[in-house]
Amino acid sequence: MRVLLVEDDRELGSAVSASLTGEGYAVDWLTDGASATTSLATTTYDLVLLDLGLPKQDGLSVLRALRARSDTQRSVPVLIATAMDSVKDRVEGLDAGADDYLVKPFSLEELHARVRALIRRRNAVASNSIVHGVLAFDLQSRQASVDGVALELSAREAAILEVLLLRSGRAVSKEQLLDSLFAWDRDITLNAIEVYVHRLRKKLEPAQIVVRTFRGLGYCIEKAEPVRS
Ligand code: CA
Repeated sequence: MRVLLVEDDRELGSAVSASLTGEGYAVDWLTDGASATTSLATTTYDLVLLDLGLPKQDGLSVLRALRARSDTQRSVPVLIATAMDSVKDRVEGLDAGADDYLVKPFSLEELHARVRALIRRRNAVASNSIVHGVLAFDLQSRQASVDGVALELSAREAAILEVLLLRSGRAVSKEQLLDSLFAWDRDITLNAIEVYVHRLRKKLEPAQIVVRTFRGLGYCIEKAEPVRS
């Protein structure tokens, strides 16, 4: 899951960026509104964490420009995190298209929970536990288990499994996986995605969970057909 963090306070931005990275998100951190708008035009995000008081272009105007677009990225969940705490500010932010509003100072724990909630809602998932056949995946701990037994996955494998499960039944392209998993500062190729998917497949095989490849479209997770004898 890839998050765009727009925060001009260096200390807070650095703390939030580090904490979200620690939670397994790929985080792109920008410190002004204009570059946020540029970045939103070229990169697909799963969530935007937006400050309102920003240099070059204020947060509300970034949000309004985003919601006025005509592509799918226009509906990316936006969580406003700001020191502006009047009722008028909140109403204005939510009416401009924000999905949630968090007033500074906030606890990182609460921020994480709100981020998870928005990502669940975006993907029409009701709880933190996604169940797929014998496989269960916990969005909070990022732990997968098969029939209740923990599955040993690397952080990357777990991140790929999370994206595939949140979009199960739909094909996810390698480019989308790359976008979801890595921030700008990581120099990762599409081949690396293939390697991670290959490893994940091997680990899911005993549970008869299949990651199908659709040529030209990407990967899709599905339950294996029962073996016919
Ligand atoms: Ca600010």
